[in-house]
Amino acid sequence: MKIAVYPGSFDPVTNGHLDIIERASRMFDRVIVAVAINSSKKGLFSRQERVELLEKVTARMANVHIDHFEGLLVEYCARQSAMAVIRGLRAVSDFDYEYAMYQMNREFDKGIDTVFLLASREYSYLSSTIIKEFARYGRSVAPYAPDAVNQALLSKFGHNALESN
Ligand code: ADP
Repeated sequence: MKIAVYPGSFDPVTNGHLDIIERASRMFDRVIVAVAINSSKKGLFSRQERVELLEKVTARMANVHIDHFEGLLVEYCARQSAMAVIRGLRAVSDFDYEYAMYQMNREFDKGIDTVFLLASREYSYLSSTIIKEFARYGRSVAPYAPDAVNQALLSKFGHNALESN
């Protein structure tokens, strides 16, 4: 059984994340999308909300499971018997940080490798930060995020999803 963990903030999940999840789910028997809890990084959505949105938008993918974790990623992966970490790469700007994380994780546990998937062209500029910025000003983010996320974002900022855009 080949198990992979796709960790991230997912604050909130975008179509870019979803694309990576779908592609990873074709490569592994089981993909665990794990919301990383970072106490010093206060997000827009609570842990519970991020997990629920992820569950909703991945419901049709039978081998994808949603979880959350605190602490070291490699330790979480070992607990899950995962052999790989999945990360998405958008632009060169993602590379430095991802490279450092990869090397650190290898230091901690040689048994866990990282699989980098390049962002699909249409999502290569997409981030949770950007869609939050759009929604803050009442713009629908329908082309960039699943429906449930678009609605959750707009209502978070006090906008009506039907009137927006
Ligand atoms: P983090 O705080 O760990 O960077 P994110 O939720 O922003 O968490 O992203 C999780 C992972 O998904 C990272 O590997 C990131 O590079 C990748 N990712 C984010 N947006 C996209 C996208 N549009 N296309 C492909 N990968 C993406």
